[in-house]
Amino acid sequence: MEKLIITVAHTGNVPTKEMNPFTPITSEEIVADIKACAKLGASVAHIHVRDENGKPTSRRDLYEVVLNKLDEEKVDIIRQLSTGARGGENTIEWRGQMLDLPQAQMASLATGSSNFAGTVNANAPQLITALAEKMHDNALKPEIECFDLAMISNAKRLGKKGVLKTPMHFNLVMNVPGSIEGTVENLIYMVNQLPKDATWTICAIGSAQFDLIPMAIAMGGNVRTGLEDVIEFPKGRKVTNAMLVQRCVDIAKAIGREIATPTEAAEIMGLFK
Ligand code: MG
Repeated sequence: MEKLIITVAHTGNVPTKEMNPFTPITSEEIVADIKACAKLGASVAHIHVRDENGKPTSRRDLYEVVLNKLDEEKVDIIRQLSTGARGGENTIEWRGQMLDLPQAQMASLATGSSNFAGTVNANAPQLITALAEKMHDNALKPEIECFDLAMISNAKRLGKKGVLKTPMHFNLVMNVPGSIEGTVENLIYMVNQLPKDATWTICAIGSAQFDLIPMAIAMGGNVRTGLEDVIEFPKGRKVTNAMLVQRCVDIAKAIGREIATPTEAAEIMGLFK
């Protein structure tokens, strides 16, 4: 089996300090959390930022602050920008404004639309293509976020058209209320639909991840964890990003799977820079 790539999704759009006091919100908190998780074995940071009011945003200047701090502190981790933040218009200009920042290596790209708990995850065909083109123009490897099976089909179609370069790297996003349920059967089915040369990771929202992460590690896939995906353990104890990453490391160790360094992860996923 390839070495395991662990991604930390440290902040996301939804968690607040009220929901979990360990949620990193400021750039200092975000960088400190990423640094701690990198030391434990995370090789990718899925970066979201918040504005001065703690609201999710795509603002390029705020991404730049986090990326510069990561560089200043020499944090060894792959920088993956989220294009899924809201707080502005649902346009390429807003959602893709940070994609030309030179310090990043990856960006997330949903290849279809679905529902979140209270809103629509709207990704029009023209927006998907524009985001993909801007990522490729800036040598960012897309992490293709699939909230449902149709998004895998669409990614394969975009790969054939040349909009997405192959081999592709996928993130199977499971158990979002309104999207595919996080079950073992669904995970296996989704993995079987991927192109044979693809690499993949899984993220599962809520406590579904406590079952699905060990499963994905045993299947040879990769895993994402972090407060974007889960804020407490099944019995209600609040999690930290470091606890969640350590849990992935412990599971991998228990079954004899080694953890990828950022350099190894870049090679496994075929990053462009
Ligand atoms: Mg995200």
